[in-house]
Amino acid sequence: MPELPEAETMARELGAVLPGRRIASVPHVRRDMVHGDPRPLSSLLPGRRIRDVYRRAKRVVLTLTGGVELVFRLGMSGRLELVEPTVPIPRHAHLRLRIAGPDAQELRLIDPRRFGGVWCLTGSRRHKGKRLGPVGVEPLSVTPAVFRRLLDRHRPIKSLLMDQTILAGLGNIYTDESLHAAGLHPLTPAATLTRDEADRLLRAIRSTLRRAIRLAGSTISDYRRITGKPGSFQKVHRVYGRVGLPCRRCGTPIERIVVIGRSTFFCPSCQPEPTP
Ligand SMILES: [Zn+2]
Repeated sequence: MPELPEAETMARELGAVLPGRRIASVPHVRRDMVHGDPRPLSSLLPGRRIRDVYRRAKRVVLTLTGGVELVFRLGMSGRLELVEPTVPIPRHAHLRLRIAGPDAQELRLIDPRRFGGVWCLTGSRRHKGKRLGPVGVEPLSVTPAVFRRLLDRHRPIKSLLMDQTILAGLGNIYTDESLHAAGLHPLTPAATLTRDEADRLLRAIRSTLRRAIRLAGSTISDYRRITGKPGSFQKVHRVYGRVGLPCRRCGTPIERIVVIGRSTFFCPSCQPEPTP
């Protein structure tokens, strides 16, 4: 599932090439993947230029001329591909935007499991259907004081970090990786963290995310960079997907438990169970 580093990688790679370019046409759109302004994208988008591409939470946002924003939610298996239009269209390409120019390209949203979608925001009051929902603060820019206040809840730290309405962008992989880097057990009640532990956790989250962005994210199953190449952070995972393998810090075999229904990987020596 794409998390913050994967969405950031896609946004940066698209942001390096798309701004200033014009959308020529919309060769294909699967209607039930589009939300927001109810007018068809094939009449709303052609002729508009792409101003900017950025990431917010796990979403990739294209800002277009005329006050239009396209927000891509990548769900469980979504990715964006930017290729020449002659490149064969993969299965599950639910939206294709033809980008004008001498070197014409196609931006494709590919999403086998279809938990994602695209929101077309125009400021129109006619917005219908699924809302985008609230998103929490960004872990790369939140201040330590605000972060400590977010932790003041009686929930396991893993469940809190993955709650998108509190902190935006962390999913299963980067939560487990960050908790190992911080030496905290995933079931530690968030509100019991000391000030030092909370600060250490925020530093661990940031260094984990920054390194993952440098390595273009983790390719476990569906995620690819916009060119189709895989990311490489999965090669240096500390705990995620490594059950039974030695901890990279102390050699103890990594264990797996289930927290809020999700596989959770940790080192029992580096991340001791909280004492009641
Ligand atoms: Zn260890």
